[in-house]
Amino acid sequence: MKRAIYYSLDKKSVSDNDYLLKKFPEIVKITFNPAFNSQQCINLEKELFTKAKHNLLLEIFLSIAVSEAQGVDELYLSISKEKLNNFVKDSTEFLNVLKRIVYSSTKNKLKIHVLNEEDSVEKVTISEENNITSVLLKNNVKTVVVYSGGLDCTVAAHSLQSQEIPFELSFIDYGQNNLIEEKLCLEKQSSQLGISKKNSIKVINCLKNFYYQMNDSIDLINGEKITIKNSEAEYVPSRNILLIIITALNFDLSKELQIITGSHEDDKNSPDNSIEFYFLLNRLFKSTRIMDNITVNPMLYSIGGKKDIVDLGNKLGVNFSWTWTCHNKSQNKNKLVPCLECNDCLVRQEAFFSNDLIDPFEKALDFNQKYGNIRNIIKNEFRFENDNFEDMTFEELNIDSLKFIYIVTIIENEYNFEFDMSEIVKFEECLISNFIDSAIKSIEINFLQNKK
Ligand SMILES: [Zn+2]
Repeated sequence: MKRAIYYSLDKKSVSDNDYLLKKFPEIVKITFNPAFNSQQCINLEKELFTKAKHNLLLEIFLSIAVSEAQGVDELYLSISKEKLNNFVKDSTEFLNVLKRIVYSSTKNKLKIHVLNEEDSVEKVTISEENNITSVLLKNNVKTVVVYSGGLDCTVAAHSLQSQEIPFELSFIDYGQNNLIEEKLCLEKQSSQLGISKKNSIKVINCLKNFYYQMNDSIDLINGEKITIKNSEAEYVPSRNILLIIITALNFDLSKELQIITGSHEDDKNSPDNSIEFYFLLNRLFKSTRIMDNITVNPMLYSIGGKKDIVDLGNKLGVNFSWTWTCHNKSQNKNKLVPCLECNDCLVRQEAFFSNDLIDPFEKALDFNQKYGNIRNIIKNEFRFENDNFEDMTFEELNIDSLKFIYIVTIIENEYNFEFDMSEIVKFEECLISNFIDSAIKSIEINFLQNKK
């Protein structure tokens, strides 16, 4: 049994601490520091520290994320009664729901205790939520989508637009592996949705250094590939709740706020995606003084699972080429090419297949194979040692027109097509990567013409 105690940012001491430290001398101490100078505790950058100081729920969930990452079984929160009562309307309700949501939405089924709490809070009753399957969507309140560039939240955004519900996007850089791919999708989708960067897209990055110190999930560590075998390691401690709270704290909470997420029925890998989690979270917000205007709505739960979401997205005309589902980085640096090996890739493939649709990524994969093959032909023919030759021009590589024609002929023979030379007017100035791109384009056009 691993125990931890979290010392609140509030300096007021809680009398039970000493008793606890004597009883469990091996207890792990968790504290937060506002600067990057301490080896002993978790450092929060200024923006996050200030937010946590003014919002007890954020503070508590940061300590829960740390506990999850450290494999703690029981966490004691040292928070003064005064601080708790300043933040919540009904402390019994708040603590009841908090315990339940933490237990059900954390990887280790973390149990929490609040020092100085009253005995009655041990009794948890949540039976009334069991039969509810969706939250009512409101169309006249401030609405924000927690947006990751993934397929689900993209379909949710398009669905809101089709219902003429205005919304903003909240994109969070928490140090994820595939940030570049996700940001590219954010850019493409927001322009398709007609959402302007200036007013309606918030990019938040104050959690990045926090998660960097966790070093827990492989989603946060560059280099290691996520496959079906290690898919449980993609889980990031308390990510969903922290993304929701951080998103909320960027809005004026004196007015009603509706937060939309892309969770749905097939989200079974993370415990913080379940419908129970969302109902408890809404109840938790309602029991506070300053977050009681927030409703979190996983609106896709009322639609179903991945298959139904792909079907809806297809009907809404979503451009799936710009939705990144894969847990790994793109297989091609010039184009989005998923791994098709991780759990999320397989679920996505199955969803397109069962709808009789072709995922644009199937084409991307084919592109990637051709790209790699043509790249190898060029590399081998000219015996390039340098691996970055794609970023150079023919001229820089000393390839003259004769050598150029020679390489074009080899590629034409390999793929049995005729190169559209109008694509490349001045071949000397052409980057090798652009040349490969146009070669593939010509191969595809040729293939379609032959089919006719
Ligand atoms: Zn993948």
